[in-house]
Amino acid sequence: MKIEKHRVVSFHYRLAEQGGAELENSYQGEPSLYLHGARNILPALEKALAGHSVGDTVAVDLSAAQAYGERQEGQVQRIPAKYLKHEGKMKPGQIVRFRDDQGVRQARVIKVGKFSVDVDTNHPLAGKNLHFDIEIVDVREASAEEVSHGHAHGPGGHQH
Ligand code: ZN
Repeated sequence: MKIEKHRVVSFHYRLAEQGGAELENSYQGEPSLYLHGARNILPALEKALAGHSVGDTVAVDLSAAQAYGERQEGQVQRIPAKYLKHEGKMKPGQIVRFRDDQGVRQARVIKVGKFSVDVDTNHPLAGKNLHFDIEIVDVREASAEEVSHGHAHGPGGHQH
């Protein structure tokens, strides 16, 4: 079964900066799931996967602009520590999550104060040209419910 609109794709991936070391991969856990055609993943990645089927491995190079955008100056915010989700003691360089009017966002800690934390809200992968190696594990028809929700359900996907 080929990857096309209204199908759910299950995949493993390795992600590296182009010409650099691996940044992350999905092989320790469940494959990731997405609903094709619903912009669940980066549009350029979705385009590269279209038409492929189970067992294919797809290597995709994305420029920073096609991936998470260029880094922007002036993205440092001071946030009360209680609003930041993190594990353990916060340290500079650590990635934390917080919620604002755009939803849940990731940020990199720059400086930890007693009650507040300065964070850089550029996406941690902003400014990087990325290389993905994707292995397609499964392709199935989406359920009517998944199509109406605009995302895939189940382990590795959206769990309500
Ligand atoms: Zn749903």
